Amino acid sequence: MSLESARARLMRQLAHEVRDKKVLDVMGRVPRELFVPASSQHAAYENVPLPIDMGQTISQPLIVGVMTEAMDLRDNEKVLEIGAGSGYQTAILAELARWVVSVERHPKLVEGARKILSLLSYKNVEIHLAGEKLGWEQEAPYAAIMVTAGAPSVPQELLEQLAVGGRLVIPVGTPFEQDLIKVVKHQERTVSINLGPCRFVPLIGEGGWQKE
Ligand code: SAH
Repeated sequence: MSLESARARLMRQLAHEVRDKKVLDVMGRVPRELFVPASSQHAAYENVPLPIDMGQTISQPLIVGVMTEAMDLRDNEKVLEIGAGSGYQTAILAELARWVVSVERHPKLVEGARKILSLLSYKNVEIHLAGEKLGWEQEAPYAAIMVTAGAPSVPQELLEQLAVGGRLVIPVGTPFEQDLIKVVKHQERTVSINLGPCRFVPLIGEGGWQKE
């Protein structure tokens, strides 16, 4: 099957679960095959996560769709992503938001993501090497924050970097399986909903799990 027809088939599958037309549109445009290693390019439009460098993974397209939809993005918003990895989710966010700040703890992945995003001419993205502190508080507050690695609980550090009215989408659970949680920050309280089970690589460091 050609990449073109695999992509059309994937988009039909996604349309059953993701309702937001804008999210589907963007996922139909961003070339996922350019974010995966050459050896798995043929599988770029299968609805599966794929291995990338440093033992990490590019998320399953369905989960990218569900998480992006949950972010409820407007095109004038600044967002934060934790875990740039391949840069694929970063590109999807860059299509929908005004500005994307993304952090990643592996220098090799930072370099790879910067390269492909600049090749694809994204000008509203900055990718930083993660420091000791979780997130990127220099540019807080963010209208929405997406964490693409699993945490033991919702990190207080990220709620502090979220604007009032902001959304935080994060997998919470054990290092092996999590639930996808969406937290909305109101003036006086936060409201959380569970969007269902998921499986991510672990978030490492502050707010996450201990270093390997
Ligand atoms: N969004 C990525 C998913 C990559 S997997 C994609 O679409 O390809 C999750 C990534 O989170 C990994 O690359 C991992 O190195 C990174 N990560 C884990 N803990 C982190 C932390 N505390 N800060 C920044 N990145 C982290």
